[in-house]
Amino acid sequence: MTLDEDSTRMADLLHRQRHAFLHDGPPGLPLRKARLARLRAAVLAHREAIKDAVSADFGNRSRHETDIMELACVVQAIDYLSSHLRRFMKRERRHVHFFYRAARAYVEYQPLGVVGVMAPWNYPISLTLVPLATALAAGNRAMLKPSELTPRTSEALRHMLAEAFSEEEVAVVLGGPEVGAAFSALPFDHLLFTGSTQVGRKVMRAASDNLVPVTLELGGKSPAIVACGHVNDRTVQSLVYGKLSNAGQTCVAPDYALVHEDDLEAFIARYTATVQRFYPDGPASPDYTTIISDRHYDRLRGLVDDARRNGARVIEVGERPAHLPGRERTLVPTLVVNAGDEAPLMQEEIFGPILPVRTYGSIDKAIAYVNARPRPLALYYFGAEDGDCARLLARTTSGNVGINNTLMHVAQDDLPFGGVGPSGMGAYHGIEGFRAMSHAKGVFVQGRWNFPGLLHAPFGKLADMAIS
Ligand code: NAD
Repeated sequence: MTLDEDSTRMADLLHRQRHAFLHDGPPGLPLRKARLARLRAAVLAHREAIKDAVSADFGNRSRHETDIMELACVVQAIDYLSSHLRRFMKRERRHVHFFYRAARAYVEYQPLGVVGVMAPWNYPISLTLVPLATALAAGNRAMLKPSELTPRTSEALRHMLAEAFSEEEVAVVLGGPEVGAAFSALPFDHLLFTGSTQVGRKVMRAASDNLVPVTLELGGKSPAIVACGHVNDRTVQSLVYGKLSNAGQTCVAPDYALVHEDDLEAFIARYTATVQRFYPDGPASPDYTTIISDRHYDRLRGLVDDARRNGARVIEVGERPAHLPGRERTLVPTLVVNAGDEAPLMQEEIFGPILPVRTYGSIDKAIAYVNARPRPLALYYFGAEDGDCARLLARTTSGNVGINNTLMHVAQDDLPFGGVGPSGMGAYHGIEGFRAMSHAKGVFVQGRWNFPGLLHAPFGKLADMAIS
């Protein structure tokens, strides 16, 4: 298909979805729940095909990771939305100043219409289907644009959703950056974009032409700060888990660690031992995911080579299983100690299994380091919930925070998930997602009685009451 044909098809899909939305009226609770149930059933029915597709797209993607970090998250989100939907949809009574009584005021959460969802490649299922479930829960129709870097998964999604939904309810559009650019220029009622900060800027620019409200789920460098004396198993296991899941190709992976200067060697020893324990077969383990493309692989190698050339200490844990088919793009777990601030490794979001470790002397120095950089998507702290922890939380701004844990905040359906500043705008999951994709319509209902002559001429003395 040419870009023109794609654009025409997308405009037609949007038109048909909007027409169906207006024609059918807003769906009530039973229909919304039925759509969520259909999505859930489709995911379970296609579970193996989806895992095959994701693995083939990555080269090797741990099937357990696809189960736990994608399919389970989707099912869990659907179940949470479904069981709380009645409460989310409930009309909210609001206060009316006595001056305007007798009257009632309430907020009605109304579906917006058609929501656009743009997704990246790193969690191609959950980052497409959790936004979709949220859009459906809020009573919307949805058009999805998955990533071109996971073509088999995108096709599997298209096939699965075409079986479960009419195109007037849910439609999938396939294509690369050009299609993405045309997609983001469509006059949706809301657009949820997950991807890089760089592309997020373009998407927001395109959406602004139609004043389409956006939720931007972007990236960045999420720090992990380990308090002095807290290099223990719990801390390091959580860091290894957060860094090496999906081979670090995770938006909320700890990007770099700030370790107290007295603990550096203990940290390196424990990190190395934990990697070996998690992956007894080394990077050849089927649970160790490969890098998505040659371009991404070369970039990551380049970051390590640059740091090494510039004098940083590089520790690689294990051997690359290049002889295994499909495992050529395996990047071994790597620690880079005290790379310079100017190194690309310390400037760019890493998005791979490389953990730069920097040392710090006091919590205030660690806070200053974080605050000198763009506001991150996540911030992790390992240590006691004491004064230092409170100080760090109060004095830094990040999308979310994990204390003594990495990644798990994302799996909490009752927590807003999103960034701040360059790491994102708005949030979703749970009620925040429902509200982001609903219109909060304030309704004022005049009662049969109110103060005579108060609100219109001739104004009586009662007008003084308004400002007394
Ligand atoms: P990306 O920004 O390159 O692509 C995301 C989507 O945008 C894809 O569907 C792509 O086809 C489309 N796209 C690409 N160029 C475009 C253009 N010029 N105009 C419109 N659309 C375009 O991101 P990616 O490489 O797929 O994903 C990695 C990035 O996503 C990382 O920065 C990561 O931190 C971020 N991410 C964020 C979250 C989150 O929830 N905050 C989750 C996962 C990934």
